[in-house]
Amino acid sequence: MDGKDILLLRCPFCGGKAKMAPAAFENEDLAHKYADTVGIRCIKCGISTPPLKKEDAVELWNSRYSFTEISD
Ligand SMILES: [Zn+2]
Repeated sequence: MDGKDILLLRCPFCGGKAKMAPAAFENEDLAHKYADTVGIRCIKCGISTPPLKKEDAVELWNSRYSFTEISD
């Protein structure tokens, strides 16, 4: 499972590509609290989701995208 089969829509703000990465924390307590979470981040403007379980992060990222699509 490396997430290659997961569809990530483009950034809702700048249209840049999104990238998923494991959440990383230097603080051990935070690292433990957010174990098994990922963040989805735009590689262009840097906007990102909070650390979430993979499915939740994907849903948040993609649903936020569709929300901005119905702006007219
Ligand atoms: Zn962006």
